[in-house]
Amino acid sequence: MPTLPDTIGFSVWIGTPDPLLADPPPFAALGQRVPIVGGTAGLGGIAISPGTDAAAPLTSDGELTVLFAGELYNRDRLAAAVDGGAPGTDAQLLLACCQRYGVSAFRLVSGRFAAVVVGPRRVVVATDHAGSVPLYLRLSEAGMTVATEAKVLAAGATGRLDSPPGTAPVPGIRGLHRIRAGTAVAVDRTSGRWHWPARAVRTWAPAYGRSIPDPDDAVAAVADRLTAAVHARASGEPVTVVLSGGIDSSAVAALATAATGPVATVSLGTDAGDEFDAARAVARHLGTDHTELKLPAADLIAELPWAVAAAEIDDPEVLEYLLPLVALYRRLPATPRRILTGYGADIPLGGMHRTTEPLELLDGVIAADMDSFDGLNELSPLLSGVAGHWSTHPYWDRDVLDLLVSLEPGLKRRHGRDKWVLREAMRGRLPQQTLCRPKLGIHEGSGLTSAWNRMLRDAGVPAGAVPDAKRAMARSLYASAVLCAVRPDEIRIDDVLAEVAEEGGAQ
Ligand code: AMP
Ligand code: MG
Repeated sequence: MPTLPDTIGFSVWIGTPDPLLADPPPFAALGQRVPIVGGTAGLGGIAISPGTDAAAPLTSDGELTVLFAGELYNRDRLAAAVDGGAPGTDAQLLLACCQRYGVSAFRLVSGRFAAVVVGPRRVVVATDHAGSVPLYLRLSEAGMTVATEAKVLAAGATGRLDSPPGTAPVPGIRGLHRIRAGTAVAVDRTSGRWHWPARAVRTWAPAYGRSIPDPDDAVAAVADRLTAAVHARASGEPVTVVLSGGIDSSAVAALATAATGPVATVSLGTDAGDEFDAARAVARHLGTDHTELKLPAADLIAELPWAVAAAEIDDPEVLEYLLPLVALYRRLPATPRRILTGYGADIPLGGMHRTTEPLELLDGVIAADMDSFDGLNELSPLLSGVAGHWSTHPYWDRDVLDLLVSLEPGLKRRHGRDKWVLREAMRGRLPQQTLCRPKLGIHEGSGLTSAWNRMLRDAGVPAGAVPDAKRAMARSLYASAVLCAVRPDEIRIDDVLAEVAEEGGAQ
């Protein structure tokens, strides 16, 4: 079995016990519930562990106490920086970094994590550079409650309503604030008294500047950094790659195969569409242990409550991207897996913008997308966590992302080809047809968009009202699965569809 993080989620109070956490919190994440007991640090709650032999969730040196969900990817460099010899667990390493650098530690660590660091005079709550493990907090004069799922804190007393610096309000939930990507929120306290407002420490931001390397050097740098990112996520482990057969996931599959030997690959298709031929060609080329999962498109749409419970968003467009993956993760055998995806490559490379627009436009949409990803929760580990698996995304590795964003746009679209620099970086490692394959979004390849449209039309929604009806379905699901924490298997998509069709004046 692969190594998964010790902790993949948590809900915890700091300062004063939060009665809200007395009941079992309604986590959507699958896994063992492990009590968090930190009497001396003044915190308590529950952590989620994917394994059966759960480690204690807290790491402490008597002064600082660290609660850490997720994993770090620059362990060796961090260990060298803190001069601590062998790195130990990720939580121990973060603790050592906090001892040496204070809150600046979060500018050094590269990972996929949410963390709480409790010290005698300060509490720090932080996510990774991409906010890839969403983290929510509720504040009161007496303390704070922090959780990796909004639904766990949705029913709370309101607490402070103004969003503290470094946070954003959570739609529909009064007094709940989401920690922004690349941000650590620090709150000081002296002799049990909290000093509001909190302070935001920005730990990462996407580059606005662009570099102009020699094209050959750019290609080599992309290959190097992506290789390192895949190694950090897969080294020596049996991993699974969710494979569409497009360049992004095929590159990850190729590099994972090189890192660990044979990997498992899985492709999802429906009766409304699939990319099986493209994925099969890659699987055969790399010699992966390949599986095709085919399901009726209607079954895919019936998974919407799970996608909403996992992503905790109400944006139907983003849900269309995430739903097929959630459905796929839920159909894998139950033994916990370490899953690598090709998700997110299109954002720094402008891959969605397929037509040959002027480079100014291409760079403009890249800058805009890098400014607006926060809060979409596209990278959340809960998407696979609802099925008990751990997923990670090499293209949003901090070093890969820094490089891809900063390349001048003429390296991203070149010789009439989108994502040129990535395709060139994979030359010789993938079949020629894969290197040249045009972009197909997961919602298109799986036929989801067309099937969802058809389902609404069949329910009597007029063609012009379909986008609004999708929005209404997403909002209704968000209200049930997040605001009211209803379990996804208790929500019937047919009921949601009927309600929306009726309200939308179905014909
Ligand atoms: P895309 O929207 O095509 O960029 O998809 C994002 C990521 O989701 C890909 O890089 C793959 O890792 C995964 N993916 C997309 N489509 C499929 C599919 N049909 N089966 C399995 N994984 C997929
Ligand atoms: Mg694709």
